[in-house]
Amino acid sequence: MNRQVLLDSRPQGAASVDNFRVVAAPMPEAGPGEVLVRNRWLSIDPYMRGRMNDAKSYVPPAKVGDVMVGQTVGDVVASNDARIGIGDTVLTSLGWQEYGVARASDVERVDTSIAPASWSLGILGMPGLTAWFGLFDVGAAKPGETVVVSAASGAVGSVVGQLAKLHGCRVVGIAGGERKCRFVVDELGFDACVDHKAGRLPDDLRDACPQGIDVQFENVGGAVLEAALPRMNRNARIVMCGLIAEYGGGEPYAYRGLRAILVNRIRMQGMIVFDWKERYPEARRGLASLVSAGRLTYRESVVEGLENAPRALLGLLQGENLGKQLVRLAP
Ligand code: NDP
Repeated sequence: MNRQVLLDSRPQGAASVDNFRVVAAPMPEAGPGEVLVRNRWLSIDPYMRGRMNDAKSYVPPAKVGDVMVGQTVGDVVASNDARIGIGDTVLTSLGWQEYGVARASDVERVDTSIAPASWSLGILGMPGLTAWFGLFDVGAAKPGETVVVSAASGAVGSVVGQLAKLHGCRVVGIAGGERKCRFVVDELGFDACVDHKAGRLPDDLRDACPQGIDVQFENVGGAVLEAALPRMNRNARIVMCGLIAEYGGGEPYAYRGLRAILVNRIRMQGMIVFDWKERYPEARRGLASLVSAGRLTYRESVVEGLENAPRALLGLLQGENLGKQLVRLAP
């Protein structure tokens, strides 16, 4: 049998484990041009909370009763396509299930000689690519500038800050709690990190950014973005990458201080990483060479077993993860 996690209902307000259902389905079979994959790793990402809502977004919502959506890495156990062999490790989007069938043209072979397979869901995958294009293309960060990164210890933020440091920027993180802030400074090498849970965010951010902010890499929104606005320099850029503070299902945040955008000629740009698809190879090469040279630190938080995927997603939304959140589905 193939165990799956279905979206069972849409959340009213905060999501809960009751919105999901674990089922056992018959083992799928690969048809012509398809491969059967045993999933080993499931990526847990903030966007999944958005997919649980029936709301207009950049992609359609997950359907109630369907397998919950998500990227996976696994091993091919049957193949009806000459390009993909049994035993190949592949990156696909088979969702929250132990096995799945994909068109061979929709899977990407993972090169496990560079890094462990799971890294293709993190630093060498979608979060790493988001960091790369967000920082360099959208943020246009320049050496000597001050870059502030929110959710700094997470999958995207940890890569943004390290890339900005390597690029010659002064880098300040914002993270929740002392332990995360220590990790961001001591292990990731940021110049400073401000604890947004300490209750002094506007003052602490001012003290950590004596030259103001040139690039705000925004992963959080809400009070975090609001604290950054008065510190931003003339011609600064806001990379609007994520608004996780608003994913909880409450009222949209009522932002104050938008006047700073006007008077300082700030450019605020939303980004969706898929728009850079044509250029993924360039960023992958850049990230892989930094990883191979040991110049980037990478951390994963791993939850064991498919049945615990709902708990992993709820934990991520509460900030329980340090680094990239994954679920291990098979040894
Ligand atoms: P993370 O690994 O950073 O995990 C999420 C983190 O968000 C938590 O650990 C927590 O960190 C922080 N957080 C959650 N709620 C709040 C809150 N209310 N206030 C402050 N911080 C909060 O996730 P990712 O790196 O995968 O994603 C980061 C952001 O990037 C998300 O907003 C996501 O939607 C976005 N994203 C956007 C993409 C795009 O193409 N635009 C692609 C990929 C991701 P802490 O404990 O430090 O508060």
